[in-house]
Amino acid sequence: MKLYVTFWNIRILHLLISVVVTILPIIFIIILLYFHTVSKLQNKAITSSKQSIKTINNLLTEIDHSATKLLNISNPACEIIEPALIKYTVTHTYIRTLNLTKDSIIYCSSFADANYRSTFLAKGELMHLFSNNDITPDRSFVYYHKTKGAWGVLIAIDGSYLAYLLNNEKNSFLVINENWLDIKGLAQSSRSFKGNPDQIEVSSNQYPFKIITVLSLTTYLEYMLEHYLLFLLILSLVMIPIGIKVYIQLPIHDIVKAMRHKQFIPYYQLIKISNSDQWSGVEVLIRWQHPKKGLIMPNEFISAIERSKHIIPFTLNLMEHVKNDFIKNLEIIPKGFHISINISPKHLQTTKLALDCEKFLQHFPKEHIQLTLEITEREIAQPTETAKKLFNLLQDLKVFISIDDFGTGHSSLSYLTSFKVDYIKIDQSFVSTLEDSLSSRYIINGIIDLANNLNIYIIAEGVENHSQKEYLTQHGVKYLQGYLFSKPTPIAELQKILAP
Ligand code: C2E
Ligand code: CA
Ligand code: CA
Repeated sequence: MKLYVTFWNIRILHLLISVVVTILPIIFIIILLYFHTVSKLQNKAITSSKQSIKTINNLLTEIDHSATKLLNISNPACEIIEPALIKYTVTHTYIRTLNLTKDSIIYCSSFADANYRSTFLAKGELMHLFSNNDITPDRSFVYYHKTKGAWGVLIAIDGSYLAYLLNNEKNSFLVINENWLDIKGLAQSSRSFKGNPDQIEVSSNQYPFKIITVLSLTTYLEYMLEHYLLFLLILSLVMIPIGIKVYIQLPIHDIVKAMRHKQFIPYYQLIKISNSDQWSGVEVLIRWQHPKKGLIMPNEFISAIERSKHIIPFTLNLMEHVKNDFIKNLEIIPKGFHISINISPKHLQTTKLALDCEKFLQHFPKEHIQLTLEITEREIAQPTETAKKLFNLLQDLKVFISIDDFGTGHSSLSYLTSFKVDYIKIDQSFVSTLEDSLSSRYIINGIIDLANNLNIYIIAEGVENHSQKEYLTQHGVKYLQGYLFSKPTPIAELQKILAP
């Protein structure tokens, strides 16, 4: 069983291929940009963390010097040293309190209320990050505890100030032990992150803290949106016309392949002489015998070929095929048999077609075959000098010219006056509405009058019933073509019909 492929099957496949061709490079570039972003943000995190660590190290070294100096004063009495502690705190904005400790208990502080409190630090612990304490319940701080035996100096460093040293990197955290300080100065004892983000850790080699930068998919995508959106939009604007071009070219690609594999075969539709039982000839109608998709009708591919340069070799191949079909069956072909071949306006751009027709006719005994070229009125423009020259050459070769789909275009009249037209074919849209539409009958009658006056034969196409046949015959239409008489058939069927 022959399978007729719908127009949409092929179009959707081509559309899919074109969309893939358009989108694939964009996806590929997005993937490249993604990896570039990952590497860039990770390197940036390392550089920025190193800078922050350097600044925090310097700060801690300065604090350490101050602590060492205080420690070296042996057993200072609180009331003597307290003003110095207060002064130091006031002059260093990032210092919250400066305290002296003994056995991890504050015994003297720049902030009097702190006296006799525990440091809450483990023995020997140098630094600890606290989210708050009861004196400042909503402010984080870091204790720096320098000890010498039982004695110690405890410096509370403001959490917000340390957060400020994180270079405004919103994904960076200052981590001391397991406590995390973010850039807003908020501290938490642990942190959990959605997904499985990259954690870039850089540790200080002088003090017990590190900086962790958390880079998640969202971070990368946000960066890409901010930096590459315009580029991706421009890329899409470049790729869309390429995709459209591919979409236009794809049918041609398939068609050229099909031509190479000789998948185009001519079908023949017989044309009848209206007032007799004789056939006057055939119209050659191309079919694509697709190995997988079955028989494809010309409406699905012919306009793509006609728009391309391939229509010239395509028609030449077709003529070669037709010539072979008819040479093999010459004995059953009546003398003067018409063979009509459809041509496109591209054929009128050179005179080469005349040479091809000459070669075609040379294979047949003289006047056995009457070659006719059908050119559709819908496509033709004003006849050029080359076209006129071609038509003159064709006239010399006794090749007939037929204006197809007559009445549907607008340039036929200038053609009728510019060179000799032998046939006009009344378009099937008028024939099919003949019985119901008065205007169709007027148009048909008008075409018949015009043709009679210009000595041009008329072929009516698309004749499907007897009343159409009767009307056209009675009105003097000499040739009739349509399913009523014959459907387009392959050469084997034509042989059977023509065989005596
Ligand atoms: P066309 O030249 O107007 O051909 C007539 C079309 O009407 C053919 O369609 C034919 O099968 C169909 N037809 C014939 N009798 C009847 C009928 O009684 N009723 C109806 N409804 N239709 C009828 P087909 O074969 O599908 O060809 C479609 C068009 O493709 C042709 O229209 C022609 O413009 C183009 N074409 C076909 N073969 C070629 C070719 O080899 N070269 C070029 N350039 N164009 C071709
Ligand atoms: Ca035709
Ligand atoms: Ca037609």
